[in-house]
Amino acid sequence: MATVLCVLYPDPLDGMPREYARDAIPHITAYPGGATAPTPRAVDFTPGELLGSVSGELGLRGFLEAAGHTLIVTSDKDGEDSEFERRLPEADVVISQPFWPGYLDARRLAKATRLRLAITAGIGSDHVDLAEAIARGITVAEVTYSNSISVAEHAVMQILALVRDFVPAHELVRAGGWDIADAVRRSYDLEGMTVGVMAAGRIGRAVLERLAPFGVHLVYTDKHPLPADVEQRLGARRIERLEDLVAEVDVLSIHAPLQPETFRLFDDAMLARMRRGSYIVNTARAAIMDRDAVVRALESGRLAGYAGDVWYPQPPAANHPWRSMPHEAMTPHMSGSSLSAQTRYAAGTREILECFLDGAPIRDEYLIAEGGALAGAGAVAYTARSGEASPGSSGR
Ligand code: NDP
Repeated sequence: MATVLCVLYPDPLDGMPREYARDAIPHITAYPGGATAPTPRAVDFTPGELLGSVSGELGLRGFLEAAGHTLIVTSDKDGEDSEFERRLPEADVVISQPFWPGYLDARRLAKATRLRLAITAGIGSDHVDLAEAIARGITVAEVTYSNSISVAEHAVMQILALVRDFVPAHELVRAGGWDIADAVRRSYDLEGMTVGVMAAGRIGRAVLERLAPFGVHLVYTDKHPLPADVEQRLGARRIERLEDLVAEVDVLSIHAPLQPETFRLFDDAMLARMRRGSYIVNTARAAIMDRDAVVRALESGRLAGYAGDVWYPQPPAANHPWRSMPHEAMTPHMSGSSLSAQTRYAAGTREILECFLDGAPIRDEYLIAEGGALAGAGAVAYTARSGEASPGSSGR
């Protein structure tokens, strides 16, 4: 029988919702490109309910306990005395969400002597030291595509929020004001601007698709070009070097994975290449940025705005400078955890668990590492250099 150790974010401050804003969510069965949404044998939750917090338990308790397995759920994840770290030696399976990552660095993996499977309920397994997990033969899997469109929608929202300067205008009316000149003095139209996307994978391409009707000039960078017909339909032009892309754009949306080569890529020198008054939205990973260089660029006016939902570490300290820097439109890490997304990644987590517990193969598109090597989607999207931790795995 397996012990499943699950790290989830805490419940809402006033307890689990007694009712929801909407009675149902759209039923999504397939993703762009044709892959099917998760296909577990069954689910024990109502789609659209809060599943990603401790009491939501990703809807897994009934299924696991009926089969005689043990489920431990905690939000206490940081430090050697945390429940997560104390229970690691018992765990056959660890489940964690990028929004509230249970960091699995080499030190913790050494304690997790029974661990055979680490599931990311969502996308982005950089909180796991992949090189170490591979060396220990641990399978790493994530629910590919489950929240890609959710993140793309959030990125588009944050681009518009920055360019139109939504947040200060909203705060102004909440405070009883009607100072239109104040509300508009940093407010522009997106139309006609050049928007760049760094990494046109599932999310980046969905952002390009959603922005095309805004009448913007689209450019992107990626290791591989999009198909020519897609480029043509979207009017999107590939620029080979990131250094050249950033110099051309008014708005940049970042969608590359956090890897050793993208770690702190946006430092003072990279930001200095951007036009004065550019905007950056980063819903990928915060450690792609040099934290303090972003603050400096906002203060100097090099950047007119910065938004995103990813922080480093997570949760960030109360005095993290991105909470108080000028012209930000930050949210907590929530874009990939809408109630709609939770339905899909909870179902995908169950699908992965069903396969693992049955000894059946896990879908290739969910696999990051298996059998001592990168596998499936991970073999395309990740690097795991021997002796080099995933940059985010330490939670520093
Ligand atoms: P994909 O794997 O579909 O796409 C990633 C793309 O990045 C690929 O096209 C890849 O190129 C490209 N790429 C890799 N390295 C570089 C680089 N150095 N420069 C330019 N392009 C590069 O991933 P997703 O679109 O699904 O997700 C992207 C990231 O978004 C995830 O890694 C994760 O960190 C983050 N994310 C954030 C969420 C949130 O809630 N905020 C939720 C989900 C994901 P190629 O394959 O052609 O080699």
